[in-house]
Amino acid sequence: MKKPTLPKPSTHFITIPLNSTPALKVSPFIPAPISHPIPLTNTQQIFIATLDILEKTRTQKTMLESLPTFTPYQLLVATMLSARTKDSTTIPIVKNLFKLHPTPKKISELKLSELERLIYGVGFHHTKSNHLHELSYLIHTKYKDQCPSTQDALTSLPGVGRKTANCILNYAFNTPAIAVDIHVHRITNRLGWIKTTSPEETEDALMEILPTEQWIRINKLLVVHGQTICEPRKPKCNLCPITKYCEYFQKQAKITPSK
Ligand code: SF4
Repeated sequence: MKKPTLPKPSTHFITIPLNSTPALKVSPFIPAPISHPIPLTNTQQIFIATLDILEKTRTQKTMLESLPTFTPYQLLVATMLSARTKDSTTIPIVKNLFKLHPTPKKISELKLSELERLIYGVGFHHTKSNHLHELSYLIHTKYKDQCPSTQDALTSLPGVGRKTANCILNYAFNTPAIAVDIHVHRITNRLGWIKTTSPEETEDALMEILPTEQWIRINKLLVVHGQTICEPRKPKCNLCPITKYCEYFQKQAKITPSK
């Protein structure tokens, strides 16, 4: 059978006349060739099945999801201030802060003592107010009031580490990155996905084993799971929907077999 030939895109245009404006040339829709994704391994399929269950069963939002009107800059500040602080403490503080002073310019113009007073209540508020002041000044002057959107630029800001930068890539810019906090680190080790001793190692290990399109949902799913069920000291395994995929649970079951 004769092979069909596709028209050459550069010469194949439809001309659409528009009212009182010059004719607009539009290239016709030519579907992109179907790419063949790399097949998932069995292990990856198990990881994805685990995440799917957590997606279906989660009962609350993360702190950053609960601030949908915040700008990327404001989300960055909220993330920075939330380190070692409960979300229930951070949320009212950042809402009040940005109600009064919504932009990097406004924050950088505040006296340090006033900024410290405004964020009083978050952990390490003295150090964080210094970082926040400096960071806001840099974003105002160097980035024209726009939060940068690359990991390198974000981590060059004072008080911003990889976890905070990746959170902003995820939640503010919808960019794949694995934001590893204590929950992500603890749970992925308990599940048996990885064996690591620090969040940095965990991030590198997870990037190795998980397909890129899964990176963006890891943080929101595991943070909520860690806050509600897989708690640090006493995981509530009796309420957990992913026991069959959990190495920690399987080991515990062997140690204490049911009567
Ligand atoms: S089974 Fe227990 S340890 Fe495993 S993920 Fe669930 S709550 Fe955490």
